[in-house]
Amino acid sequence: MSQNQIDALRAAPLPAFQHIVDGRRVSASDGRTMAVVSPIDGAVLTTCARGTTADTDAAIAAARQAFDDGRWSDLPPAARKKILLKWADLIEADALDIAVLGVRENGTEIGMALKAEPLSAAATLRYYAEAIDKLSGEIAPTDPAFLGLVHREPVGVVGAIVPWNFPLMIGAWKFAPALAAGCTMVLKPAETASLTLLRVAELGLEAGLPPGVFNVVTGEGAVVGARIAESMDVDVLVFTGSGGTGRRLLEAAARSNLKRVYLELGGKSPNIVFADAPDLDEAAKVAAHGIFRNSGQVCIAGSRILVERSIHAAFVEKLAAHAAAIKVGDPLDSATQAGAVNSERQLLQNLAFVDEARALGRKVIGGARIRQETGGFYMSPAIVADAAPQDRVFREEVFGPVVTVTPFDTEAEAVALANDTAYGLAAAVWTANLSRAHRMVRKIRAGLVHVNTYGGSDLTVPLGGVKQSGNGHDKSLHAFDKFLDLKTAWVKL
Ligand code: NAD
Repeated sequence: MSQNQIDALRAAPLPAFQHIVDGRRVSASDGRTMAVVSPIDGAVLTTCARGTTADTDAAIAAARQAFDDGRWSDLPPAARKKILLKWADLIEADALDIAVLGVRENGTEIGMALKAEPLSAAATLRYYAEAIDKLSGEIAPTDPAFLGLVHREPVGVVGAIVPWNFPLMIGAWKFAPALAAGCTMVLKPAETASLTLLRVAELGLEAGLPPGVFNVVTGEGAVVGARIAESMDVDVLVFTGSGGTGRRLLEAAARSNLKRVYLELGGKSPNIVFADAPDLDEAAKVAAHGIFRNSGQVCIAGSRILVERSIHAAFVEKLAAHAAAIKVGDPLDSATQAGAVNSERQLLQNLAFVDEARALGRKVIGGARIRQETGGFYMSPAIVADAAPQDRVFREEVFGPVVTVTPFDTEAEAVALANDTAYGLAAAVWTANLSRAHRMVRKIRAGLVHVNTYGGSDLTVPLGGVKQSGNGHDKSLHAFDKFLDLKTAWVKL
């Protein structure tokens, strides 16, 4: 990846983008479009279709037909695998192009975008493609007068609604296992991150996905997303996004066909640093990365740092130094470490949290809007160095580069503070005491607890939340559980 290649791609004019439905590009039924605004400079990049309920119904009907006639689910697993592997190859071959397209639309810095978006989506497709011809049913250990067979069958049409922070990575966590399992899908990207998913859907067709198997409808959540959620023809709904939307989806499922709803929601993840952390500077550096990468727009961001009181001052100093060293700016400059905030709305929301902490008299380091000549939506990392548990910034998800630091005195207090949240997505513990590390892993209510690290994991382990962070799991072979039903055949011999 050279800067010249990136610069050439960023200058490329973009076509108007349309839905991908039933194997074709189609405009909105009423011809309306949405402007795609780049957070890099606030300029309009292009347009994409503003989906209607009729568009959504047409996509669901295409997915229903493609599932019911078996054009995908009746293929031998090895044949589905071949198409998915080819799809992964096509994405990888176009990775830089796709990554730059995504950055122009959502502002993530290019190094991270390349790895976390197209390359991660290709790896995810390969992982699930490789798994499909290795999943078997069961023969139950029954009375020998009977034969009990347990089949695993694709559940049917899957609706997927995804957010803007990592549209391809999170999208692939849904579509790769769902399609590998033999399901068909209608996916709705977020309003501010649609283009790469449309591009990738086209590559799927080129790889040989039959029409109707993977449909992408762009538009507003309250129109397209709501229609998917209330459809009688969608069997399963998988979602990543905010808790408020998650509640609406559950209500829509209850009002319609009781479709299963799997939610990956937000977090307010505690990162707990004990005085016996193996390397305090490493803990501070990783903590800074754990909250400030992608400008804090990461669901598992370690947004609440809890520090043992004896090292609080030293830790804050180190954290501030690492935060100050993060180069914020043009996400298409390969030297940048944190790009633009996704939208002006999100930027103003982030700054409001910081202002409120200042008004409460908290010690705030950083957290200012950065004005670039080009315009665009940028801010410096913010540290609220002495946040109290009742502060809004300690309790609510910011989804921006804003972290709180709060001192504690005992292990029990650290656990109580860590669990003092409606969320339960991720957490971390920094300690050299092995017994304490394992005690903490057991006591913290979260789907993912890191020990002496933050943020890194891979496809082989599940990601999911407890409490109001959601249910069900993305990643790992457990992701198949959402898309494969168990059916028993009970045979008298
Ligand atoms: P959001 O809930 O506003 O939007 C997510 C998606 O839902 C978008 O596609 C949006 O168009 C759609 N949507 C909005 N209203 C809808 C409605 N009424 N009916 C149906 N669909 C609707 O969330 P966001 O602002 O895009 O994303 C940020 C949130 O996502 C944060 O809370 C973050 O923590 C969470 N998130 C969670 C994970 C995870 O894995 N747990 C990962 C990334 C982001």
